[in-house]
Amino acid sequence: MASSRSTKLAVVGCGLMGSALARAFAAAGHEVAVWNRTAGKARAVGGGTVAFEDLRQAVAGRELVVVSLSNYAAWAELCASGDVASALSGKTLVQLTSGSPADARGGLEWARANGVDYLDAAILAYPAFVATDYATVFYAGSRAVFDRHHDTLQALARNSVFVDEKIGSAATLDCAILEAYYGGSLAVLHAAAMCKAEGLDPKAFFAQKNAFLGLISVTADAAGDMISRDTFSGDQCSLDTHVAAIEHIVRLSADARISTRFPRELLENYRRAVGAGLGGQELPAVFRTLERE
Ligand code: NAP
Repeated sequence: MASSRSTKLAVVGCGLMGSALARAFAAAGHEVAVWNRTAGKARAVGGGTVAFEDLRQAVAGRELVVVSLSNYAAWAELCASGDVASALSGKTLVQLTSGSPADARGGLEWARANGVDYLDAAILAYPAFVATDYATVFYAGSRAVFDRHHDTLQALARNSVFVDEKIGSAATLDCAILEAYYGGSLAVLHAAAMCKAEGLDPKAFFAQKNAFLGLISVTADAAGDMISRDTFSGDQCSLDTHVAAIEHIVRLSADARISTRFPRELLENYRRAVGAGLGGQELPAVFRTLERE
């Protein structure tokens, strides 16, 4: 994807994701310096990027520094050196390391103390999808800083979403989507294990992908609406009836001698809502008990 202006930038961290980010910037016509703790990985990025062994030299003369490390502690370790902090002063740092909202707030505090413009970001894509229609990057922080670098950052994903000026908002949205992803993925895997244990080829289950994704989609829409109206009554299916269905899942799992951990956890959550007097309401009423905890 060609950008109108070539930006001099640095990518700090050349793991699987950082390498893909650096190559995407270079492919879009930017001048990309790369640095990695294990220097060989920086040299292996290629794609027209230039590897540096010294972090301060890598960021020197660059207006934008994009960081992709395992976690925020790794970044804290790197920038603990006063030399690195002063080399970043006056630049914009885009923190693309995944973390929690508290991590993002800590990052902003550090950036303010060191004269660095800071955006906290989260990428929702595997490295192979960076720079494609299937990649989304969430940004939080100063809208003006985001607008200033938007054209350059567009090289990473067609879908660049500015979430909010609240610095933790990109991490919050990322965690929310990842929870749906990991929770949903575990449910899918447990469902396949149930099929296999009962002698049904899991392919039969995966062939019904549209059926279960459709149910989740309809429920997400209903939940969004009910949560915003703070009312959970309806005429489709009571929580009491849902609990009975989950009991069948636990029973199947126990009879088939596969793990019951996941369906028992589900049952416990739904039963808690029934115990709180919500049994006559629709499924999203479970939200009430989660919110209170
Ligand atoms: P990775 O391949 O394991 O790379 C981790 C990077 O962090 C390496 O460059 C590593 O350097 C560096 N690092 C770790 N500890 C360090 C330290 N103490 N000091 C300096 N550098 C340190 O991981 P990744 O998949 O690229 O993930 C990077 C970030 O992207 C993570 O926050 C991850 O959650 C996020 N992300 C990844 C994906 C994905 O599909 N891979 C998707 C979305 C978001 P060395 O090479 O020297 O070990």
